[in-house]
Amino acid sequence: MQSIINDIAEQMAQSPDKGIVASYIPQLAKIDPNQFAISVALPNGEIYSAGCAQTTFSIQSVSKVFTLTLALGKLGESIWSRVGREPSGDPFNSIVQLEHEHGKPRNPFINAGAIAVADAIMQGHQPKETLAEIVQFIRFLANDESIVIDEKVARSEVETGTRNASLAYFMASFGLFENSVDAVLGTYFHHCSIAMNTHQLATAGLFLANNGINPSTGYAVVSPQRAKRINALMLTCGHYDGSGEFAFRVGLPGKSGVGGGILAIAPGKASIAVWSPGLDVIGNSKLGTEALELFASKTGWSVFGQ
Ligand code: GLU
Repeated sequence: MQSIINDIAEQMAQSPDKGIVASYIPQLAKIDPNQFAISVALPNGEIYSAGCAQTTFSIQSVSKVFTLTLALGKLGESIWSRVGREPSGDPFNSIVQLEHEHGKPRNPFINAGAIAVADAIMQGHQPKETLAEIVQFIRFLANDESIVIDEKVARSEVETGTRNASLAYFMASFGLFENSVDAVLGTYFHHCSIAMNTHQLATAGLFLANNGINPSTGYAVVSPQRAKRINALMLTCGHYDGSGEFAFRVGLPGKSGVGGGILAIAPGKASIAVWSPGLDVIGNSKLGTEALELFASKTGWSVFGQ
């Protein structure tokens, strides 16, 4: 495993086209695109890394996997009355489908869907309390108390988040929100701004590769059925309007973020986190996707076969 990922990191370092860092969140525009990291966590506790696996980055939309998991734990299946389970085929910040579907977002991984999930999780609590719960949950999953929110990124998102505010107010206009729109947006922007490294992220995702059980603690985070369903949503909706392409090239459930991170799950085998801040035109990590494509073909771990 170590030599597989060393090879991948070496190839990525030589790649001439590293993609373009997200610029619509000014704080993310400052990140050096010449960085790459990969970590592979196995259910037996072994973890392998290559590249800058100790450098933290903004997990952005990868956080939506954890907020969905939390929402399922709190609300159970009733969360599906707030958010659908179909790929959107539209960009991550699109508003168009919301009008046709009476303010119900197509899935929990587009921005509108994650904002609706944030509202559902809050249950009348203040953003601070909900954020403490989300961060605590991620620390528990990663078995690492040092994980925190990057306040600079959060502020940068609040200052420039007019599109997300539009999505939230539009949904609220259908009478769907339980909390104030500003409180929901504050919660959403801050959970997107959680900073982690690939070592922490791969560890945090391990329950999804291990039938819902976090091997570092032995505790069931979710039932095997729920883990299977979260993986299914990651596969079909985890890369926005690039989800089909990611399934075609990589063949693993995966969730990307505009910070350049991707969490991918090889069910029964491993949780893999990659990070490289340069994005493709859709907003998914360019080298991260290439690295996972290589990883899946070298290991034969695509869910669709060798
Ligand atoms: N916080 C980002 C936004 O709302 C998340 C987008 C992403 O990672 O895809 O635009």
